[in-house]
Amino acid sequence: MAVNLDPDLLSILVCPKCRSEFRVDDEANELICTNGACALAYPVRDDIPVLLIDEARDTKAAPVD
Ligand SMILES: [Zn+2]
Repeated sequence: MAVNLDPDLLSILVCPKCRSEFRVDDEANELICTNGACALAYPVRDDIPVLLIDEARDTKAAPVD
């Protein structure tokens, strides 16, 4: 299911954690923070982005020691 967001809306949205812009992941139905050090993925539910850090998924790979 593709993310169906108004481009004007998307252009003003920023990550609530680090204030970086998002890219859209249509397959996962998420907005992904473009800041590699943050890289949180926020769910989009019924075409409404849920920009809550508590709801976000960390897309960074698990650290390898
Ligand atoms: Zn971020």
